[in-house]
Amino acid sequence: MHEIALARSLTEMVDDYALQQGVTRIKQINIRLGEMSAMTRALHFCFGSAAQGTSCEGAVLNIEEIPLTVFCESCDTVKTPNGRYNFRCPDCGLPTPNVVTGREMQLTSIELYETADAISAARSVEHTSTPVNSAIN
Ligand SMILES: [Zn+2]
Repeated sequence: MHEIALARSLTEMVDDYALQQGVTRIKQINIRLGEMSAMTRALHFCFGSAAQGTSCEGAVLNIEEIPLTVFCESCDTVKTPNGRYNFRCPDCGLPTPNVVTGREMQLTSIELYETADAISAARSVEHTSTPVNSAIN
């Protein structure tokens, strides 16, 4: 049930932020998720129920997958392994336990409806993109 906890912590974080901004509805949430977590589908699946009753309800969850990269000490370079669970350097074949990217879960931005008027006026809804620099883990 880890993905449900993750979805909840995400909606809580966004909800807190929305409250600070005096916003009650979120249009879109943009996050970056390491491919090693293998949570993209699960998070999409759980987000809807986690968002119920929060400002995230009805919001679009946009997940940018961050590929797995490792640092090979032998080559002294950052490498991209051939598989998600393959922690060997693709060039020299040595084990590379030093994960550089692929584990992160980061809230990158939240897109808000500009004002309540913009929504009720039924014109194309403008939004603002607000960067949020906080990682969940
Ligand atoms: Zn290497």
